[in-house]
Amino acid sequence: MKLVVLGSGTSVPHPRRASAAFWLETSAGSLLLDCSADAAHRMAEENLNWSNLDAVWISHLHLDHCVGLASLLFGLKWAPQTQGRRKLLKIYGCEGIKKLLRAIDDSNDYGLFEQPFPIELHEVLVSDGDFELLPGLRAKTFSTPHTRESLAIRITDNDGASVVYSSDTGYSEELASFAREVDLLILECSFWRNKPTAKHLELVDAMRIARLAEPRTLLLTHLYPEWDGIDLESKAKELWPGITIEAWDGLRLEI
Ligand SMILES: [Zn+2]
Ligand SMILES: [Zn+2]
Repeated sequence: MKLVVLGSGTSVPHPRRASAAFWLETSAGSLLLDCSADAAHRMAEENLNWSNLDAVWISHLHLDHCVGLASLLFGLKWAPQTQGRRKLLKIYGCEGIKKLLRAIDDSNDYGLFEQPFPIELHEVLVSDGDFELLPGLRAKTFSTPHTRESLAIRITDNDGASVVYSSDTGYSEELASFAREVDLLILECSFWRNKPTAKHLELVDAMRIARLAEPRTLLLTHLYPEWDGIDLESKAKELWPGITIEAWDGLRLEI
């Protein structure tokens, strides 16, 4: 699998960090992990094959993770590149994503679900257990202590390569178990220290999860502007000896 960081930031406007979105290229197809308002244009900026995108995952209803889905669908509907497309686009997301998209769609005659190509929209519950994101790409979810509907996802391809994307989360040892020995753990690390809320992580929390989970590689993301000017990777190394990478927009990783 290949990962491209589209947005390593948060809801707070930042000159170098777009809000949350990741492009995941797999043998089964391409997948967008979260879809912030910046995501569509960031895909184009990275020269990714956005018009052939196979699937979208939405972790929770905070707007820095999901609101770009409406504008992406609006863009796909009218883009010259998609007029000949007939391939299915699958959208999987947390509880409430259908209501949000319908509310936007109903507010004007956008016709977001009337596309040149078919769309499937699925809401995922943790109780659903394992599901197939794309043929040959398995996924399971974990309910994170962030919002009522927020979900982490673990994705495994046919070759056994695996990715966990925490999205936003508070501290949870169960999340560490969920991410145990994953190849790539994309973990939020909103704050360096003195976090103002239990619903996000600061560095010591993230590194405690890393120590318990022992991922092959840890990618820290969802970085508030408080991180500007701080050497995240060396601070992380003091707390866990494994490989920690600071996410930045445009970073590409092989998994
Ligand atoms: Zn967020
Ligand atoms: Zn959030």
